[in-house]
Amino acid sequence: MAVNPPDKYLQVAIPVPMRQLFTYKLPEKLNTPSVQLGERVIVPFGSRQVVAIVLAIDEESEYEAEKLKTVLSRVNDNYSFSAELLSFLQRCADYYHHPIGDVFQQALPVLLRQIKQPDVELPQIWLANESVSDNDYKAIEKRAPKQAELLTLLKQHQGMTWSELLTLGFNKAQLNALEKKQYINAKTRDVKVFAWQESALQQENRLALSAEQAVIVSTIKEMQRQFSCHLIDGITGSGKTEVYLQAMEQILAANKQVLVLVPEIGLTPQTLSRFEQRFNVPICLHHSGLNDKERLQTWLEAQRGSAAIVIGTRSAIFTPLHDLGLIIVDEEHDASFKQQDSFRYHGRDIAILRARQLNIPIILGSATPSFETLQNALSGRYHYHQLKKRAGNASTAKISLIDVAQQQMEHGLSGTLKQAIKNTLVRGEQALVFLNRRGYAPAINCQECHWIDDCQRCDKPYTLHQGQRLLICHHCGSQKRIPPQCPSCGSVRIKPMGQGTEQLEEKISALFPEYSAVRIDRDSTRKKGELAKLLQQVNDKEHQLLIGTQMLAKGHHFPDVTLVAILDVDGALFSYDFRAAEHMAQLLVQVSGRAGRASKPGKVMVQSNFPDHPLLQDLINNGYQHFAKHALIERQQALLPPFSFQALFRAEANYPSYPEKFLRVLSEVNYDGCQFAGPVPAAMEKKAGKFRYHLILQAKSRKQLHQAVFQLIHHHANNEWQSKVRWTVDIDPMDLSW
Ligand code: ADP
Ligand code: ZN
Ligand code: ZN
Repeated sequence: MAVNPPDKYLQVAIPVPMRQLFTYKLPEKLNTPSVQLGERVIVPFGSRQVVAIVLAIDEESEYEAEKLKTVLSRVNDNYSFSAELLSFLQRCADYYHHPIGDVFQQALPVLLRQIKQPDVELPQIWLANESVSDNDYKAIEKRAPKQAELLTLLKQHQGMTWSELLTLGFNKAQLNALEKKQYINAKTRDVKVFAWQESALQQENRLALSAEQAVIVSTIKEMQRQFSCHLIDGITGSGKTEVYLQAMEQILAANKQVLVLVPEIGLTPQTLSRFEQRFNVPICLHHSGLNDKERLQTWLEAQRGSAAIVIGTRSAIFTPLHDLGLIIVDEEHDASFKQQDSFRYHGRDIAILRARQLNIPIILGSATPSFETLQNALSGRYHYHQLKKRAGNASTAKISLIDVAQQQMEHGLSGTLKQAIKNTLVRGEQALVFLNRRGYAPAINCQECHWIDDCQRCDKPYTLHQGQRLLICHHCGSQKRIPPQCPSCGSVRIKPMGQGTEQLEEKISALFPEYSAVRIDRDSTRKKGELAKLLQQVNDKEHQLLIGTQMLAKGHHFPDVTLVAILDVDGALFSYDFRAAEHMAQLLVQVSGRAGRASKPGKVMVQSNFPDHPLLQDLINNGYQHFAKHALIERQQALLPPFSFQALFRAEANYPSYPEKFLRVLSEVNYDGCQFAGPVPAAMEKKAGKFRYHLILQAKSRKQLHQAVFQLIHHHANNEWQSKVRWTVDIDPMDLSW
């Protein structure tokens, strides 16, 4: 008599906010070919069907077989998680105490989360035709310089995808024009595993390293087959990127892949084009400017091993890689590496985790290292490399302070600053004015009764967006029309209060009517390709005045900007967030790095009501490093991170008493080596109609912190208030303001 072969039992991760795996039966008929770890299966969950990831395959189960549900089907594609990625993601879930199903969900490209299977084609790449002559080229260069630039790039780099070209600021029209003239053509990219060829290195673009750079490259090369973490602490323009490029050579030559994490690619097209010009190898991108299909293509090419270099933002750290040999995190201090909702991971920190697991080197680079990283470098846990000079003979921009308490201000600009802007423009150079507040005005109010239009759900003023004729709450996103009259007294004298970038653009344009001003912030660059377009216009000197938010502080280099003005730094000097000064200093130094080049040194002017403030003085007179070392001593004395370790519990509910009571119960338990601070109302106590409270758990060691968080989540969170609140835990919180 034939015996039915037994079923298998699968433990799977399901995208639900629960910290557990779920067990399903896999009937034998579905087990050919044998089910593998990391595979996707479709299972019933409640009334839905969901895509789940197989994390364990058992012969037996602790549950009664009759009570278990059955796997409906297997997704028979080849896009499973590798063992390496499985273990990495499990460690991420453990470290952040985050529901494992959600971790896997976020690591999976959107199209693979769906039950319906995506049809993915291979990407098309563009190539320059061999037959293009120098004369052809000269003809284009005259009439269409951008097309000529595109052609040059395609000649240097055999085969670029549309996503790469888009990210670099080219458009379809330019591509079509060249194709029509038969200067370029498209073909499907090969899927074969990347193999290095001598010709892949564009020797002519390679620079002779300075002594400082050479030492760093050779140190990294010596350690390329083991885990090692390197901080390159070097001012903007000191040649960090050149070090990355040369450190990558041997890795690529050994047919290994390189993963590069950057804060935002759209802002650093120059970095991307440096990579493209140096290495004639398949480069894949992963960032929010791409659509789901394009991101899935990157995922697949990286997994198959046909991509040699993957460049992406935060979540690119979850890319499956066939044979990863090196990770680079550029601008490692950048706040965008920390995800600020649901799965609150830090891209840099888990990049280090992944490098350690793979036993490969990782390079962190910054002109303003985060205090966490700097402390690890100073204490010898990381290899500490410094680049002290700007490469070539460019000088660093000088920072000076303007005491605005002593001056008449017009639209937020002091007389001194206006004069400096004017002088810059008259010399034919560009000026960048920096204000970290988008919109037209941060509030509107009634001139008669002083009523302020507050968002009902957040108790904070609406921001006026004049261009859209809307009031928008920057905290919850709600929008409404501008009221024609005051609802409180009926007056029609309703006016904007304060100034944002939109208004600044208008006022500056009026002050300097003979020059063109451009605003670069999240509002003005929402459209795909818009940012690249504006940046190009700036480089082409179509605009002389740039107005922007902190978006402009990142990566991008403006060679003809010789004056950077920062309208207001005072907020950071008196913040209750202990990281505010660190962030202010990073911002100041980063912004000043945007300015000037060899022939035209840059200048940075900072307006403040407190120019004598010791933090500002230290930073400006002694530089970031000195400032940072000093501030680290203060952190050590106060036992703040990086000298202690924190977890932040956030709770919210429709009534203020619930989150408070919930967190209070949590705070009443003692954990070894740990202390609680709070509960306290969040800096923004009310947001989107919810009342929010914070509780901080602080420990002297990471181990103690993790033990305590584990205990708390598994044994104490289940109190009488839990069902009345929504709560989350944030390990190594970066932003305590909300
Ligand atoms: P960072 O990444 O630190 O901002 P980059 O690597 O982009 O610095 O270098 C800044 C500028 O200096 C670039 O224009 C680059 O071409 C140039 N540069 C870098 N290293 C060298 C070198 N060894 N010799 C000459 N120029 C260099
Ligand atoms: Zn009124
Ligand atoms: Zn709101």
